[in-house]
Amino acid sequence: MSKFLSSRFSSLVPYTPGEQPRDMEYVKLNTNESPFPPSNKVIEAVNSEEVKKLNLYPDPTGIALISALAKTYNVGEENVFISNGSDDILNFSFMAFCDKDKGAFFPEISYGFYEVYAELYGVNYKKVPLKSDFSINPADYYNAGNTVVIANPNAPTGLALSLAEIEEILKANPNDVVIIDEAYVDFGAESCVPLTKKYNNLIVVMTYSKSRSLAGGRLGFAIASAELISDLNTIKYSTNPYNINRLTMAAGIASLEDDDYYKACNKNTAEVREYTKAEIEKLGFTSTNSKANFLFAKSNKVGGEQYYLALKSKGVLVRHFKNEKIKDYVRINIVTKEQIDILLAKTNEILN
Ligand code: PMP
Repeated sequence: MSKFLSSRFSSLVPYTPGEQPRDMEYVKLNTNESPFPPSNKVIEAVNSEEVKKLNLYPDPTGIALISALAKTYNVGEENVFISNGSDDILNFSFMAFCDKDKGAFFPEISYGFYEVYAELYGVNYKKVPLKSDFSINPADYYNAGNTVVIANPNAPTGLALSLAEIEEILKANPNDVVIIDEAYVDFGAESCVPLTKKYNNLIVVMTYSKSRSLAGGRLGFAIASAELISDLNTIKYSTNPYNINRLTMAAGIASLEDDDYYKACNKNTAEVREYTKAEIEKLGFTSTNSKANFLFAKSNKVGGEQYYLALKSKGVLVRHFKNEKIKDYVRINIVTKEQIDILLAKTNEILN
């Protein structure tokens, strides 16, 4: 820390992204990316005339992409917000909807960035414990009196709440914002976008990083009531109005024209997830009933860190968290069956 850093941030512990080592080529199962390339239309759109226009700012309103998303999700243009990855939307939401009087409730085991944002903005927060099976108890969030943030499916457990359970949380918090982070929803959970028409306190946050093969493009979006979208725009126009670059905007629009391609990719991921679950359980692992593009699993023979390190030495990277409650587990990104077969073979070697 330099002597120049504001004392406000002296104890801030930043988020640690999954490692991206360069020492050798790994089978990378640690950052939940898609193994599939963007669709052909996306590749064409990015290679086109757009590149020649990089001397010009992108449209700050992003209306072409917003309009395409509104059509896809059957909502109005005033109900859509786009941003530089969904982390940006979560950041803006903590900035917009939390302060010293209004804190945040989120699950104790969830996406690590929620706590970082709460610390960054100095807001009070409660990490709500999960049940012993790692599921979320919706009633723990009733009458929260605070902004509620829930990843659905949750990360890194992969467990999802039903639409009815989320609706109960919304009903029980009419005066507070409820943020549902649907980063992994396209792999088998139910989206609560339709509830945005009924509940003006709901923000559904989504990303192109996983189910639309665009993690490197950095594109996220939110769907909510016009009032909440307007609040997010207040923050956007107070920080970085040009928050989506031209190429990413073109890629985002083109990807919506290739919906069938992405649906097929996501279906494949869900199938490979079930295959991985069945095969790894044959090796003595237990795993949660994940609805995401990852599996959360623990061995009955080796500890989580030991397994992670042994896999790494064999060229396979998975994600291990040091948190005491989940230290026996690893999170495994579901990729192609061929890559998963390498993971399974290396796991066999480690166990024997
Ligand atoms: N929410 C959750 C639950 C995530 O796991 C991630 C990915 N790390 C994000 C949001 C952010 O994704 P992105 O910024 O790439 O859209």
